[in-house]
This record gives sequence, C-alpha cells and structure tokens, in this order.
Amino acid sequence: MARRVSRRQWWRNYRRYLKSEAWQDRRKKLYRDRDGRCEDCGRELHGRYHAHHLSYANVGSEPLHELRLLCEDCHAKRHPRRRVRRPGKRGTLAAALGVLLLVSILVLIVA
Ligand SMILES: [Zn+2]
Ligand SMILES: [Zn+2]
Repeated sequence: MARRVSRRQWWRNYRRYLKSEAWQDRRKKLYRDRDGRCEDCGRELHGRYHAHHLSYANVGSEPLHELRLLCEDCHAKRHPRRRVRRPGKRGTLAAALGVLLLVSILVLIVA
C-alpha cells in the first residue's frame, strides 16, 4: 500500500483491504497458525476471532508475525483508547464516539 497518502485516504484503503479476499485468506492462515486460540487469554475461538495488527507498516502484505489472533475481549484491551469504561472517569462524548468507532471496526473485522 502506498505510503504517501493522506490519513483519510489511508483509512479508506485500510477498510477496503479488510474486505478483500487477500485479507480473509491471511486471517484464516493466522487462525490455523495459532491453533484457533486467543493469544492473550488462550481461550478457544471456535471460528469467531479477531486479527490484531501489531504494526501497520506492512498492511496489505503483513507477515503473520505482525498479527495476533485474539478474542473480542482481548482485542478491545489492545485498543485501550477506544475502551468503553475507564476507571474513575465518567463516560464522555469522546468515549461514546470511540465505542462507535470500535464497534464499526469490529463489525468490519468479524463480518
Ligand atoms: Zn482472549
Ligand atoms: Zn487491533
């Protein structure tokens, strides 16, 4: 994926990539590679899994070691800034928007 793109264009490309067959293949490969278990908590995923990017440097041709196979809960923990509840803090509009963003990303990834 080209590097010199605007942030907005990058996200557009990224979302398109997440729908691509190439990405679906890579996710399946990752699932088999990690024996269908969440790498953070070890639970069996039974086909419902998230692929988390440790790095976005090679999106489009990322090696498997740049990805983590995670359950939904552990994936949410990997994105703490988008978390729903923060200890000691009331929900804010920003948090609500963050949740919306996270949910839309999850839908894209799981679908
Ligand atoms: Zn987990
Ligand atoms: Zn992630």
